[in-house]
Amino acid sequence: MKLKIPRHISTIVPYPPGKPQDELEREYGVRNSIKLASNENPRSPSEAVLRAVSEALTKLNRYPDGSCFYLTTSLADKLGVSPSEIVVGNGSDDIIDCLVKAFVNEGEEVISSHPSFLMYTKCVQVRGGINRVVPMKEMHHDLDAIAAAVNEHTRLIFLDNPNNPTGSIIPLVDLSVFLSNVPEDVIVVLDEAYADFMDDEYRPDAGSLLRNTKGRAAVVFLRTFSKAYGIPGLRVGYGLMPEEVAVCLHKVRQPFNVNMLAQVAAVAALGDETSYQQMLDSTREGIEYLSGGLRKFGCVPYPTQTNFILVDVKCDADKLYDAMLYEGVIIRSMTSYGFSSCVRISVGLEEENIRCLNALEKCLGMMER
Ligand SMILES: *Cc1c(COP(=O)(O)O)cnc(C)c1O
Repeated sequence: MKLKIPRHISTIVPYPPGKPQDELEREYGVRNSIKLASNENPRSPSEAVLRAVSEALTKLNRYPDGSCFYLTTSLADKLGVSPSEIVVGNGSDDIIDCLVKAFVNEGEEVISSHPSFLMYTKCVQVRGGINRVVPMKEMHHDLDAIAAAVNEHTRLIFLDNPNNPTGSIIPLVDLSVFLSNVPEDVIVVLDEAYADFMDDEYRPDAGSLLRNTKGRAAVVFLRTFSKAYGIPGLRVGYGLMPEEVAVCLHKVRQPFNVNMLAQVAAVAALGDETSYQQMLDSTREGIEYLSGGLRKFGCVPYPTQTNFILVDVKCDADKLYDAMLYEGVIIRSMTSYGFSSCVRISVGLEEENIRCLNALEKCLGMMER
């Protein structure tokens, strides 16, 4: 064969896949390892979610509802928006991709921060768009530099708020000034994958930002069932956006982009207020506990509004990551993000957090600092 691979595809560096936990255990000779690396909900899905999924299993011979009717209606009720302002996706990754598909032509530009969620630049590359990547400033989105990077080719701006991997947020006043500086024909995407964990006072008012679009850029909010709601394995996320934007996304999305089990599980998770609240409470406790312990070990945890902590461990992050693996605790080294002395730790169950701190104390003792 003779493949003609477009240049914007041949130049993509594939995302290195992580090893399955079983594989790591074999390689490092450990058992009962714990994974605090992917910002997941450490609890198994609730009874309500498991029941909804198992009841739907007998219907797998049918296609899913391509309109996600029940999930969209439940979300609209809960959030006080219109169903026409919601687009559900195969994870919020899918919505990110649909936004780029719908609005970015080859050669047009998309702005994002570094470091931030990797999917933004990846989707833009795949579609032949141009990434304008603006370095973060003191662990926060540099909104002035981002506004200055906008030109007539800019179509989208992706801002994860809170940011992954720093955990930092955009102060509401700064957001408001920024939105007044962005031209009307640009779409500002606020990725709120961790919005559930934010203190209420920091959360932008989606309802008013969706509707008051007169004279300013459209804002799209991305949310997901992968973090606080704990079903990343099923892939379901959604965007809240002005109806005109939603109409475009419905045109480009796959007709059955959200599978049947994902839809019923998300509806059930949304209705399970008790599990949700427990998750938020135990996450806050976990953040307190881990941050306190980390400070005692001479590390510097950054303030976070999420279920994870970026922490400067004052030693080689890759070496610490490796040492922790031998203790059966999987964390994330931030070297590939440009922070060679930082790791990112997701909050686990209480006993997992305890084990993590014990392992850290031991491993940090072996490091050159
Ligand atoms: C985890 C995460 C998502 C969620 O992606 P899904 O496709 O919904 O699983 C989106 N954005 C950020 C910044 C994240 O960290």
